[in-house]
Amino acid sequence: MESHAVTFKKVQSTISENVKLIVVSKTKPIAEIMEVYECGHRIFGENKAQELQEKYEYMPKDIEWHFIGHLQTNKVKYITPFVSLIHSIDSLRLLKEVNKSAKKENRIVDCLLQFFIAEEETKFGLDMDEARELLTSESFKNMENIQICGVMGMATYTEDKTQIRREFAHLKNIFKEIKAEFFADSDFFKEISMGMTNDCQIAIEEGSTMVRIGSAIFGERNYSK
Ligand SMILES: *Cc1c(COP(=O)(O)O)cnc(C)c1O
Repeated sequence: MESHAVTFKKVQSTISENVKLIVVSKTKPIAEIMEVYECGHRIFGENKAQELQEKYEYMPKDIEWHFIGHLQTNKVKYITPFVSLIHSIDSLRLLKEVNKSAKKENRIVDCLLQFFIAEEETKFGLDMDEARELLTSESFKNMENIQICGVMGMATYTEDKTQIRREFAHLKNIFKEIKAEFFADSDFFKEISMGMTNDCQIAIEEGSTMVRIGSAIFGERNYSK
């Protein structure tokens, strides 16, 4: 098997320079993640709050940690002291909790709104109406410790490339609409987080600014251990 350094460099060479690569290290032990860190990479993504907190504690402090999974409100406190970007805001309730926790830490935490763009029921995310409701709410207007930096979405897990492309194009349109309606004057609202191992090239063609890639670098994940 090729080393993680080799697979990382291969993946990196296929990603355009203006697209940020989030190396998804969920379920992987620190020693394996360090192989990619030693290549000079500093941006990693995790999807479990306590796993992320633990890795943050034991790993070099110049890592930029992104949270990419479904986040429960009672777990927010584990990550707000250090997290760089939360990709997965899918309710006003969650955003309120992040704001409250960030305030305690005296931080402003960057967040993306996660949209539901797939056909699979299992995926999380807002629809346009829910996003408008969130963004026009009084409580959102009073939040001083979060910054909305863009949108995130996951396409359906399918071989059908036309469908994947359509779903990513939809997310790009959502981004444009939300920007025009709510963030026209913002310098911060600019990110579209879309694309994983199997669909990152389509995502980049459709305007992704951040791809989240795990298995192409670390191999298939083994959840049973
Ligand atoms: C696991 C995960 C990824 C990475 O998936 P790969 O197919 O291993 O590249 C990206 N985004 C989210 C939200 C994930 O949970």
